[in-house]
Amino acid sequence: MTPFMKPSDFTPARLSPSLLSKALIGFIALVCLSLGLATAWQMSLSREERLAAAKVAVSNIVRAAEQQAQDTVRQADNTLRDLVERVEHDGLAIDARARLAKLMAANVSNVEAVQGLFIFDAQGNWIVNSFSEIQTHDNGDRPYFIYHRDHSDTATRIGSIVKSRITGDMVIPISRRINGADGTFAGVALATVPVAYFQTFFERMDVDDQGVIFLALNNGDLLARRPTLTALMTTNIAKGDIFSRYLPESDSGIAVTRSLVDGVERIYAYRRVTGLPIVAAAGVSSQHVFAPWWAYAYRSAGLIALICLALIGLSVLLYKQIQQLITAESELQGAQNELETIAQTDSLTQLPNRRRFDFAVRQEWARASRNRSTLAIILLDIDWFKQYNDQYGHVRGDDCLMEVASLIGSAVHRAGDLAARYGGEEFVILLPETDLAGALSVAEKVRLSIFNAGIEHSASALGNVTVSLGVVAINAPKHDAYTAALKEADRLLYRAKNRGRNRVEANELPGAQATGSYVSSLVT
Ligand code: GH3
Ligand code: MG
Ligand code: MG
Repeated sequence: MTPFMKPSDFTPARLSPSLLSKALIGFIALVCLSLGLATAWQMSLSREERLAAAKVAVSNIVRAAEQQAQDTVRQADNTLRDLVERVEHDGLAIDARARLAKLMAANVSNVEAVQGLFIFDAQGNWIVNSFSEIQTHDNGDRPYFIYHRDHSDTATRIGSIVKSRITGDMVIPISRRINGADGTFAGVALATVPVAYFQTFFERMDVDDQGVIFLALNNGDLLARRPTLTALMTTNIAKGDIFSRYLPESDSGIAVTRSLVDGVERIYAYRRVTGLPIVAAAGVSSQHVFAPWWAYAYRSAGLIALICLALIGLSVLLYKQIQQLITAESELQGAQNELETIAQTDSLTQLPNRRRFDFAVRQEWARASRNRSTLAIILLDIDWFKQYNDQYGHVRGDDCLMEVASLIGSAVHRAGDLAARYGGEEFVILLPETDLAGALSVAEKVRLSIFNAGIEHSASALGNVTVSLGVVAINAPKHDAYTAALKEADRLLYRAKNRGRNRVEANELPGAQATGSYVSSLVT
């Protein structure tokens, strides 16, 4: 490695600091984004899973509720069918009534769902019931009675909840019309199913505290509900989403909606009970389904946030370290450059020193040799300088050297030209791509500028500080022959001294066509 080559010339290309920091920020952002996305994806999967599990659970509950409703109504219906047939066949004479009462009491105890059985006549009067005490009431006002009186169909009817006039319980009336022998309305047979029967069944189902299970008539009147409502008897949910939005679309399905009754959002399963004018539905609260999911989501998000923060902190630290390294390196490079400049500069005259010249002349020589171009060297020496020192002292001698150096420096402008202190009061000028004529003109310019500067030198015959110069030019020089050229310049310089000083002696060296010597005229 040559003395002027920087070690960094050999290091591979490196990312610039701003690109490096951008890459770092980009990388961290990518890692954080990937972590976030992966977690979000995972969370969304687990949310789907929970939702799917909740849907399965509520669907199963609805099927169970449907089954229960079907069984209950079928049992009540069978019992009523028997009773009606018996009444229509046997009539309601006093002895028949006694037998009926016994049979009805037996039926009630056999059929768990049925609390009471009743027969009313065409006016709604109580004729016989399953309760032992005979009470007389007029049930002509009951909607089921009015319905059967006014409709000839003999199908079983399930009515809205009423309050039992015997037990005071809320009951679901299941009723059939009784016809007389001529087909006219003869009365109504009624089975009552206590709402509590369904409630007890619903209590055994697995829904959360905010969950709900209900049965309702097709018109939206609630028949049973868990949790129970004080206003159950008068609650109609026809305006709720399940009745108004979902049931018109499909007889069964899943709905995520907010309850009209209590405002709780739930995942519902609903279905029209096959063969009955009843809708069964069950819902678990979204809050219950997703509470563990939210806890998991918060924990994961917190963890991801922590990891991202740590990564960001780490990258900030790394970034600062990189910046510090870069600053330190550029400071070091600056110091190194400064040292190199110092090492190549003459401290007194601030011109490039001999070391620098040696390097430059080798380079330019090799280039001229390669390119077969012309190169010139001017060697110059202050005349009678010993005497100057003796006359004015060394300090003034140094000042004079500085002034002469500055004049030489000002005479050399072209890029590639180099004026250097060769040693003592000798200077050298390297002129690449310059022929003898060009070099002579530079030499003359230097000689004149120093002469014209009029630096007093009383010990010199000329009265001023002057210089003598030796100039050589060579075209397409032989490789490494520059020492010979310098020797020739030195020889010419001393010829100038011998021939009276303050003059230029020049020669074109072989390597090109020699044109003989040139001698500048003395300037007086
Ligand atoms: P000539 O015309 O033949 O060159 O005569 P000269 O007196 O210049 O002769 P010579 O080259 O032998 O003397 C050079 C003198 O320059 C010797 C030395 O005292 C002086 N000199 C060399 N370097 C410095 C320097 O850095 N400062 C000062 N003040 N003088 C220097
Ligand atoms: Mg000398
Ligand atoms: Mg001298």
